Amino acid sequence: MNRTRRNSGPGAEGPAANVLPPEAVQGAALNGKILLVEDEAGLVVTLGDRLRKEGYWVEAARDGRQGLDRALNDPFDLIILDLMLPQKSGIDVCRDLRQNGLAVPILMLTARSQTVDKVLGLKIGADDYVTKPFDMLELLARVEALLRRAPSTPASLGTVHQIGPIRVDLRRTQVWRDRQLVALSAREFQLLRYFIEHRGATLSRSELLEQVWGYGSTTGTRTVDVHVAGLRQKLESDPKQPRLILTVLGLGYKFAG
Ligand code: CA
Repeated sequence: MNRTRRNSGPGAEGPAANVLPPEAVQGAALNGKILLVEDEAGLVVTLGDRLRKEGYWVEAARDGRQGLDRALNDPFDLIILDLMLPQKSGIDVCRDLRQNGLAVPILMLTARSQTVDKVLGLKIGADDYVTKPFDMLELLARVEALLRRAPSTPASLGTVHQIGPIRVDLRRTQVWRDRQLVALSAREFQLLRYFIEHRGATLSRSELLEQVWGYGSTTGTRTVDVHVAGLRQKLESDPKQPRLILTVLGLGYKFAG
């Protein structure tokens, strides 16, 4: 098969046949587990096959609602998400995933003309995008890059942390409180992860801004306070008397969990 085969698959509205090969055909998932949310049957087959050959475990969902459902119920290392989907658009799926506290890397597939949508896609929490028709090797490179970037958790740290009634699964990017799933934004999750990775240390607002929001951020340190307040609201039993994220007067914050 042509290694750089372009997407020229059949139209979107094919029969809802199960195009997934039997699980026995799957790779050993050594490289990660990918959810492919795409309604073009031909693309699901070519892209799925190619990713499996590269050693990824691939599962496919054929519409937005199914994709969201799969992503919320099963941990994936990466989601490849088409923008134009039946039932629920890629934008809505992406937003809902972030609102549900999932910080899994999302690679959007967009059509050539959807420049505005691209930007919107990134604003609502996608991590990268590839324009259709795409070069397979380019897509594989983006996938690899996102997966390399994803495990920002040092290997020495476990991926599941139980802090009193709070349970944080860094790999699945999910947080529970008293067994209830807590809806954190991607940024709140990243901030919480940074706190967990630096528990006990006093962290200044500017350090948090730099490490969690990134270089060149145009946000002020007030943003940090707003997000800390959000986390407290969602995680502390009494947000006014925080026991998890403490204020260190004049210096910043300290995670005491
Ligand atoms: Ca589509």
